[in-house]
Amino acid sequence: MDSPDRRTVLRRLLAIPAVLAPAARAERIEIGAAELEVSFDAARFNLPAATLLAWVDQCAKAVAGYFGHYPVERARIRIVPSDRHGVSNGKSFGNRGAMCRVAVNPHASESDLNADWILTHEMVHFGFPSVPERHHWIEEGIATYVEPIARVRAGTLAPGKVWSDMVRDMPQGLPEPGDRGLDNTHTWGRTYWGGALFCLLADVEIRKRTGNGKGLEDALRAINHAGGTIEADWPLERALQIGDQATGIGIMRELYQKMATAPMPVDLPALWKQLGVERRGDSAVFDDKAPLAAVRRSIGWDRRS
Ligand SMILES: [Zn+2]
Repeated sequence: MDSPDRRTVLRRLLAIPAVLAPAARAERIEIGAAELEVSFDAARFNLPAATLLAWVDQCAKAVAGYFGHYPVERARIRIVPSDRHGVSNGKSFGNRGAMCRVAVNPHASESDLNADWILTHEMVHFGFPSVPERHHWIEEGIATYVEPIARVRAGTLAPGKVWSDMVRDMPQGLPEPGDRGLDNTHTWGRTYWGGALFCLLADVEIRKRTGNGKGLEDALRAINHAGGTIEADWPLERALQIGDQATGIGIMRELYQKMATAPMPVDLPALWKQLGVERRGDSAVFDDKAPLAAVRRSIGWDRRS
């Protein structure tokens, strides 16, 4: 996807109720048929409003690219000042429409925004239903796994970086002694990276079994298309069933059976070797003769590197 063209960013000044944010104004961005209402107090940030809006636009387009369209029709993005460096925090909500709050330092630079992953992560949350708390790992796992892939595909993150980070961070999702499966082990590592590991294994298996005809995004797009957004409360089983129907194989439910209530060991070094990925610092080298090299390319489109 092309980098955001600021001229296409539709901006319209709107006053929002003073009781909510006295000095903030809201502007609108259209992403296909979706409309984002972006609010911030421009006087609090050094960067021009157009730069902040271009960042939101870029993140939104990456997420729309992955899902096929922006995953909710309307969303509110609140940019709030924070003392912490760059873009430091985000949280998304679905109980009163899709909304996310993202914390940005008033002195943040354009390169801080370009390096940011948080807003993309939050927007990925918009595309999956809210499931019961014990399955929180799937919400965080999808956001953690999809965010860098969406950015690679949008051309805003180097493929070497996404695979380097995946090789470095994915082991945090592996079960440790005493773990009782993802539904019962609510540590940070198993929530974010255990969930991401579920997504990676599902993605690889879907691509293997369909000869790269389909991938995890086909499952996630179908779930989203059926009304699975952050605004909807669903049982997890419903989402997994729709995802499995879309790919024609039962891998999401199969993996859920294995990973939800018992620790499932995974030989990650063997998987990286099969995919033909070797981490080299902040980048990676790729082996195109590896048995699953085509699967790796179709996940991250690394031919573009
Ligand atoms: Zn999250």
